[in-house]
Amino acid sequence: MTMILIVEDEQKLAELLKDYLAQSSFDTTILDNGNYVIPYVRENKPDLVILDLMLPGRDGMEICKEIRTFSNLPIIMVTARVEEIDRLLGLELGADDYVCKPFSPRELVARVKAVLRRAGGETTIKAKGLVLDEARYQASLHCVDLELTAVEFKLLSFMAANPGRIYSRDQLMERIYSDHRIVSDRTIDSHIKKLRKKIAEQSPDEELIGSVYGVGYKFI
Ligand code: CA
Repeated sequence: MTMILIVEDEQKLAELLKDYLAQSSFDTTILDNGNYVIPYVRENKPDLVILDLMLPGRDGMEICKEIRTFSNLPIIMVTARVEEIDRLLGLELGADDYVCKPFSPRELVARVKAVLRRAGGETTIKAKGLVLDEARYQASLHCVDLELTAVEFKLLSFMAANPGRIYSRDQLMERIYSDHRIVSDRTIDSHIKKLRKKIAEQSPDEELIGSVYGVGYKFI
């Protein structure tokens, strides 16, 4: 069984996460004080840690840094302020993902699965009849190959790894253009349009990519 350590001092939130993770068959332990984390991790070797930033005792940042001195176990950092995420990214703490409060427990569970999948070296995404082989850049829908461009493949696999999660155009652009060249929002829209067309050609009644008005896109 996959064991997840929840480090969170808001008891209600911790319990809620525990319930949601249990529904996905994850075993969980809750710690509410930063001082207990390192000894616990060393002793019990959890498969993943959900780590709140602001804690009684040692804070999440310090804990994350220390874990990285002896372990590569996946860490998802949780912060109460969206502005914190930029700062945390800049510090290169070595966390695998960052989540901002308030978040939906369902989304966090999706992130947990995605992080575990990456950590396990799995490179195939399966969702709704779609199979995306990231090592070979091959995509199929209901066993029929989809002829996708590299950019379309990246967009689709990025979204399909976290069904239901909404991505802004900026987030999608960052993901596909690692050289950070300047591209307009329209570029994403036109790639999505082509992707939808290719999906519709295989499966006309199925909508896999949803638009969220004024925000961006998601894999349904
Ligand atoms: Ca806290």
